[in-house]
Amino acid sequence: MKKKWYDYLWIGELLYWALGLCNILFAWLGMLFFTIPLLVALIGGNKAYCNRYCGRGQLLGLLGKKLSRNAPPPKFLRSRWFRYGFLAFFMVMFGLMLRGTYMVFAGAPLRQAVTLLWVFKLPWHWAKVDIVAPWMAQFAFGFYGVMMTSTVLGLLTMVLFRPRSWCVYCPMGTMTQGICMLKQKKEDGGCGGESRENCGAAEDSGQ
Ligand code: SF4
Repeated sequence: MKKKWYDYLWIGELLYWALGLCNILFAWLGMLFFTIPLLVALIGGNKAYCNRYCGRGQLLGLLGKKLSRNAPPPKFLRSRWFRYGFLAFFMVMFGLMLRGTYMVFAGAPLRQAVTLLWVFKLPWHWAKVDIVAPWMAQFAFGFYGVMMTSTVLGLLTMVLFRPRSWCVYCPMGTMTQGICMLKQKKEDGGCGGESRENCGAAEDSGQ
């Protein structure tokens, strides 16, 4: 099948990491990966972003062709309590990152480190960040850590299970799925089979 432009969005994902390594301030671009899926779900009421435009999902799919064990993900990963629990945990950690940004805005010193998996502090002293306000730099460090943490989890689950197993519990996927199910429920007056099909996680569609 002929490739479309959006089949190459995985390059954007790689570019994001490369730019962030050159200068952490490029981490701000990651906000696009947060806002676009939500806008697509809110306006379109579907999972078009996940199914078509997500560079991360594409990259995991591509890498998984060579590196994945291709084993089905464990049942608990797919369960509602785990997916919504992980989303809640992720949002709490995101809130703490925003709090750290606010503290720097209020006068606390800038911490030049990227936190991986919420625990490991990677020193990042080569970053040239004095061209912006310290709080903007702090947000960039925090956000790059959030993106890196989710990528590491995505790669781990890609190797251990199916290529796009991350999509089963990806917080963005859970949020967009919730939004589009709510929207379709409203339109249909109930969430029938078609709604679930349109709203399902990428992993559900066998990718
Ligand atoms: S579930 Fe997450 S990683 Fe997967 S396609 Fe959707 S936004 Fe991308």
